[in-house]
Amino acid sequence: MSGTLTTQAADAGSADHPGAILRQVFGYEHFRGRQGDIIEAVNAGRNALVLMPTGGGKSLCYQIPALLRPGTAVVVSPLIALMRDQVEALRHNGVAAAVLNSSLDAATRFETERRLLAGELDLVYMAPESLLRESTLSWLERIELALFAIDEAHCVSQWGHDFRPEYLQLAELAKRFPQVPRIALTATADERTRQEIRARLLADGCELFIDSFDRPNIRYRVGLKNNARQQLLDFIQREHPDHSGIVYCFSRKRCEETAAWLHGQGLKALPYHAGLDAATRQLHQDRFIREDGLIICATIAFGMGIDKPDVRFVAHLDLPKSMESYYQETGRAGRDGLPADAWMVYGLSDILQIRQLLANSTAPQSQQRLERERLEALLTYCEAASCRRPALLNYFDEDHPGQCGNCDNCLNPPETWDATEAARKVLSCVYRTGQRFGAGHVIDVLMGRETDRIANLGHADLSTFGIGQDLDKKTWHSVIRQLLAHGHLQPDPEGHGGLQLGPDCRCLLRGETTLTLRRDVAVPRKRARGSARIEVDTSAPGWQALREWRLVTAQEENVPPYVIFHDATLAAILDARPDSLAELANISGVGRHKLEKYGEAVLDVLAGLG
Ligand code: ADP
Ligand code: ZN
Repeated sequence: MSGTLTTQAADAGSADHPGAILRQVFGYEHFRGRQGDIIEAVNAGRNALVLMPTGGGKSLCYQIPALLRPGTAVVVSPLIALMRDQVEALRHNGVAAAVLNSSLDAATRFETERRLLAGELDLVYMAPESLLRESTLSWLERIELALFAIDEAHCVSQWGHDFRPEYLQLAELAKRFPQVPRIALTATADERTRQEIRARLLADGCELFIDSFDRPNIRYRVGLKNNARQQLLDFIQREHPDHSGIVYCFSRKRCEETAAWLHGQGLKALPYHAGLDAATRQLHQDRFIREDGLIICATIAFGMGIDKPDVRFVAHLDLPKSMESYYQETGRAGRDGLPADAWMVYGLSDILQIRQLLANSTAPQSQQRLERERLEALLTYCEAASCRRPALLNYFDEDHPGQCGNCDNCLNPPETWDATEAARKVLSCVYRTGQRFGAGHVIDVLMGRETDRIANLGHADLSTFGIGQDLDKKTWHSVIRQLLAHGHLQPDPEGHGGLQLGPDCRCLLRGETTLTLRRDVAVPRKRARGSARIEVDTSAPGWQALREWRLVTAQEENVPPYVIFHDATLAAILDARPDSLAELANISGVGRHKLEKYGEAVLDVLAGLG
């Protein structure tokens, strides 16, 4: 890459304030959320802690101050693949940035160090272990530093799943470089993690910036499992043909099977889990990032460190482990702000399985209580009969007024019914049959069916035999599932699939409370998107031509397609149909550097459309 931004900016003589850099370098018109305030604070030399959801636009919060302040910014990031992509994206905007880590060959490393010492780099990305090496620290002391940005700062928290011991040593930066401002950023929302980041990385004081964790462009849907694979296939074929997506599964085996099955149905799908060797995993991840329209079937091991902005859907074929996991995993959809789907199906067996895991937990009491609370929150979310967003965001201590208009319950409000009587019938039937049998048998007794088992056990003589003929089997199933979700029922501790009365069922049995349940629906289908949502019209003439040009260009440069232009930018280009470079320059996502590099080619593609 020729010429650093510093020289370009000097030429232009105007890019000396945040808004100008935003426009000229990144091609964007407005700051999002609190970006402007954050940039101002860091630019003025203050420390900052930034809590923003995935896709919120954290990178600009340190990239713009890095360009405005004299010296080089050091960005600490835990993942080498991520650093590479970020540096590629910066270079495509004409910014002088480089990676410095153990994966470099000697010549590249030498050249990067030379450029650093010569003050030619605006940003350098490093893994914490490289940064903290004494030799690195001592030559950093010899150059001018603009700031330290500590990305994925939750890695410093021992409570989180991503704890990295090296992050603890980053506390050293405050002592060695007291004059250099530090900005720590994370998308992890819980309070405990925040406190740890502050205590460990910003103990000497910082400004706190918390953005809303709502992701308005993600449409949340939760449905009932009923041949899950087929449901998934229908969903993808109907709503996301040719789109990139992630399907999360509970086990490695299910990842494999699901990927193979989708593949057999003519979709591009690959598995990703810890049981695959490192090379295969890497290959599958690379293909996901570089190709359009690939589906990854993954365990939770997949996703951290992937910046792909155009993941259009995240599907769960099994319940996630917790509300945090669900939020993190679904959050990988729609980073680019365009409409995206979070789609999940679950059923009675999922609840049984998770309740079972919990019951058999050998963790200390206090830990078990936490685990239970987390699970309850997740089940409450699944069974919610009103807007999903309050249930999701309240978990992270954020209020939401509901009626978001972009979740299944808002779009198709579920019917509810008074299930008090039905619930009492189930509970007494479970009790009368001895708290040993699974849902199937309990329903048979309720419905008064003459099965061999009932005959052998003499259950036809029970007072609850046949008291449930007013409802059908599916409805009883639904009642039992919801009773389990609400804790009125629980699985037997031996894990034989038997149902027992849960701790919360007394009031119901005594008639002291009533119970309202939702009527089950399959996952609601797509409806017309609200007008506020910008949609990429993939059938628009020219869309395929632009994407084709982007893919070829990306392959020539050996970068992911979104590094050239985001989908949102391509869509805006198609919409505006510019016929001069000056008009193209006005489109969001087209900075000065990209205009120069790709402008003519884009105009050619547009001209070719006639
Ligand atoms: P995060 O790191 O918070 O997940 P990123 O920094 O990767 O998010 O930004 C997400 C996407 O939003 C990126 O593609 C980025 O280019 C885009 N973006 C960020 N800020 C703006 C803005 N002010 N206007 C338009 N797009 C933006
Ligand atoms: Zn809603």
